[in-house]
Formats: sequence, C-alpha cells, structure tokens
Amino acid sequence: METSTVTRFVSHFIGGEFLEARNGRTADIYDPAHGTVQARLPLADEATVDQAVQAALRAYPAWQQTPLGARAEVLFSFRELVRANATRLAELVSSEHGKVVSDAGGEVTRALEVIDFACSLPHFMKGEYSEGVSRSIDTFSVRQPLGVCAGITPFNFPLMVPVWMYAIAIATGNTFVLKPSERDPSVSMLMAELWSKAGLPDGVFNIVHGDKIAVDALLHHPDVAAISFVGSTPIARYVYETAAKTGKRVQALGGAKNHLVVMPDADLDAAADALVSAAFGSAGQRCMAISASVSVGDVAEPLMDAIAQRVKALRVGPGSDAKTDMGPVVCATARDRVVSYIDAGVTSGAALVIDGRTCRVPGYEGGFFVGPTLFDQVTPKMSIYTDEIFGPVLVNLRAQSLDEALALINANPYGNGTAIFTRSGAAARRFQRDVQVGMVGVNVPIPVPVGFYSFGGWKASLFGDLHIYGEDGFRFYTRGKVITSRWDEQNAGINLGFPVHK
Ligand code: NAD
Repeated sequence: METSTVTRFVSHFIGGEFLEARNGRTADIYDPAHGTVQARLPLADEATVDQAVQAALRAYPAWQQTPLGARAEVLFSFRELVRANATRLAELVSSEHGKVVSDAGGEVTRALEVIDFACSLPHFMKGEYSEGVSRSIDTFSVRQPLGVCAGITPFNFPLMVPVWMYAIAIATGNTFVLKPSERDPSVSMLMAELWSKAGLPDGVFNIVHGDKIAVDALLHHPDVAAISFVGSTPIARYVYETAAKTGKRVQALGGAKNHLVVMPDADLDAAADALVSAAFGSAGQRCMAISASVSVGDVAEPLMDAIAQRVKALRVGPGSDAKTDMGPVVCATARDRVVSYIDAGVTSGAALVIDGRTCRVPGYEGGFFVGPTLFDQVTPKMSIYTDEIFGPVLVNLRAQSLDEALALINANPYGNGTAIFTRSGAAARRFQRDVQVGMVGVNVPIPVPVGFYSFGGWKASLFGDLHIYGEDGFRFYTRGKVITSRWDEQNAGINLGFPVHK
C-alpha cells in the first residue's frame, strides 16, 4: 500500500481532547503480517510536548486533592472498562505489533493485575504515626505524589508496560504524560478513551506521540518531576543519565539476555516445552523471553532433539489467525536485523539446528516473518550470544556443571530474568541465591512477577533504584514527608541547645 493512501491518522491526547496534528513530522504504522502501512501518527515537537505537560500540570492540584476513595472509584471503573474491552484491546495490540491475539490477551490480563493492585491505593498511601516521641510531641509520616510524571515505552508490550507506569502514578495522585512506542500506539488511544469514560478528569492522563525529539523534550522539561522508561539498554542508559542530570526521579528498564539452565535431572519434556514457549512466544520479542539455554552435563543432545521436534511443529502466520503459534516480528528493520544475526551465527561456527531464514507464509509474502531458529554449540564470544537479538532465535550453550552455568550468567552484562529446570531442591536453592539476576524462575520459564510484587532486572537491565509496579511502584511515584508536631498548653520556653527527647 502506498503511504499516500493511508486514511487512519492517530492523534495526540492532551487535556482530554484528541489532537490530530497532521501538519508536522509523521511516521508510518505498519501491519506486520502484510508488511503494509495501515496508519500514520504525528511526531510531537517541543511545543506539543509542552502543551501536554501544561495540561498535566493544570490538572495536578485537583487530582492530588481528590479523596483517596474517589480516586479508587475511578480506578475501579477503569478496571471494569478494560475488562469489558479486553478482546478489542488484544486485537488492537495484535494488529500493530503482530503477536497472536491470544498472546495479546495475556498482556491485557497482566495489565489488569496491575490495575487491580492500583485499586488498593488507599492502603498504600497510609503513613506512620508515633505518639509521644518527646514531651507533647508526635511524629508522623505521609507519602505525597510528585506532580507530572512521564512514561516512555517500548513496542513489545504496547498495553501492559504503559499500564505498569500510569496505573500506579495516577492512583497515587500524580498526573501523567505517556510517550508510547511509535510502532504500535493505537491501543494507548483506546486506553485514553476508557480513562475518560471511567471519570478521570481531563489532563490527568495525556499522550504525545513521537521519537527522540519528544523524549528529549520530556527529559529536559522543568515541570516533569519523574521519568519511567522501558526499552533497550542504550536508550535506557541515556534516559537515566539525562533525567538524573536534569534533577528528575528516574527508573529506566533496559534490554535482556535471559538464560534458562537445564540440569541433567530436569524433566526433559517440561524443559523443552518451556524453552520453546519462552523463546518463540511473541516471536521472541519479550524482555523476559528466554534467548539462551544452558544445558548442563549430558542433557544437551536429548534437549536439542526435543526442542527441534517441537519447533518443527510450530505454525508461523498472521497474529489474527487463531491457528497461528507465532506471528511476524514488528517491522522490516527488525526482520533484517534478526536475519543478519543468524548469518553471523553461521559464520562464527555455531551449529544451526533449525534455520528460520527460509520461512515463507503463503498469502503474506510481504509480511515481516522470520521462522523460529535454533543454534547449538554456541560460545560466549559469538554475537548471537553477546547481543540481544530480540527475535525468534534460541542459542544453546553447554556447561559441565551448575557452577559453570552460574558463572556464565553472572558474567553476562544483563540481569533481567533467568530460570532453572531441575528436580533438585539444593540446585534450585543454590541458583536462586547466587544468580545475579532480578527475576528468577524455578521450573518456571518466564518469571514475570504478579502485580502485587515488583518487576525489575539487575545490571544493564535496569538503571535506577526502584523496580516498577507493586510496592516499589508506589514508592517511586510518591515521596516521603515526616512531620513533627507539638500540641501543649505550656510554652516550651527558650532553649538554644539541639532538641533532645525528654
Ligand atoms: P527502544 O529502546 O528502541 O524504544 C523504547 C522507547 O524509546 C520508544 O518509545 C522510542 O520511541 C524511544 N526511543 C527510541 N530511540 C530513542 C532515542 N535515540 N532517544 C530517545 N528515545 C528513543 O526499544 P523498543 O525496540 O521499542 O523495545 C524493545 C526493547 O525494550 C528491548 O531491548 C527489550 O528488552 C526492552 N524491554 C525491556 C523491558 C524490561 O522490563 N526490562 C520490557 C519491555 C521491553
């Protein structure tokens, strides 16, 4: 399709209004299954970002002072609306991202978990009170919102990741400006509609579309108090450093290379099923995807056979087809990048067990498809291991012992998620204690924490102190204040000494 024939245009959402802004720079939104342009979106300039921040700033005093119960009511209504629109949301995610609709449905469910948690905001906004810390003096603490918070999000979970941020930010009394991924922004527009229907006042939730220019405008805006970022490691590092330099609170979650260790005593079928699901679900475009298996001892040969057998049965096709197991990757650049890594793996001497480069989907010849790919005999210096490929490529490294497997994982610069498959409690316990990774699975391949825990990696997978959503999310979007008050009939008199407690 020629881009000039595109009729759907995605808007910004500022102060409760949809603003088309067709005149400035724009970007194309693709249908990854067909490889065609299906819509276009505006790329915000500094003035548009400022407009959104000002709308959020104006809405802040009233929203901050809205009683906790009234804020919770909006959250509960929002939750019901998201639930009622779950299918529509999942289809919208699938149409721009390419993942299968059922997988997108899982994303909606995990987002709902975080909204459920945000509904308990009155509990988390509670402070502490100490009566009588000194004569007639009480001390108490409260947590207050920060002001205007901004979120910058990746393409791979266009619904769930923004919800991780704004559900908690808004629940805690902040107002929010979202800059979603420019590849699949439409689901955020539907979420904006649902917020409005739920009774959220205009200006509390805003969306600006854009690229580096919009991101930089948010990072440098003096009225933005906090930045949450999720995306690749180089941009996460840049966002963290820039936002810190401009005096903002910041959490920046980055990329990953997640390992799954298969011990010789593991249930082989369970391990092979888990590896195939976790490596090729969403075409490997999950920050918690398993992209490296580490087979310990003599398990490598049977494990490779079991995985290969399963991979050959996977159906690759459009995400809208209920029979599809794995959809396309998000864009042509991503497909070409994945293919170039497979080429590099072959050149570097890894054993290519299954080659996804030849994958063709009849009727979808223009689609951004790469088939599931499996490499064995991979070594730590090969680029298929050192780099985050973010596509359907699983590489297997062989280790002689759990110690060797742990050393390999701990030497890796990333530390998002990892897992071990074993029947030994001692091996599992050792692994969960010593592995330098933020989220660990024991016989669970993608250990994404439930909504009432927090999500976050270590090392180059997260820059900042606090993880996202859960209790850490409440802490990130609020700051503490401690009040010391004296109520007494008697004057305390003059005392130039430093106050002591008696
Ligand atoms: P990306 O880093 O390319 O983009 C993320 C966001 O940053 C987008 O909104 C994009 O517009 C913006 N951006 C891109 N280039 C920029 C630049 N030069 N300056 C300022 N902003 C810029 O990431 P992506 O391709 O959309 O998403 C995939 C990546 O996200 C993978 O690396 C994946 O591991 C990571 N991810 C991490 C987590 C996590 O929780 N750690 C979760 C999801 C995705």
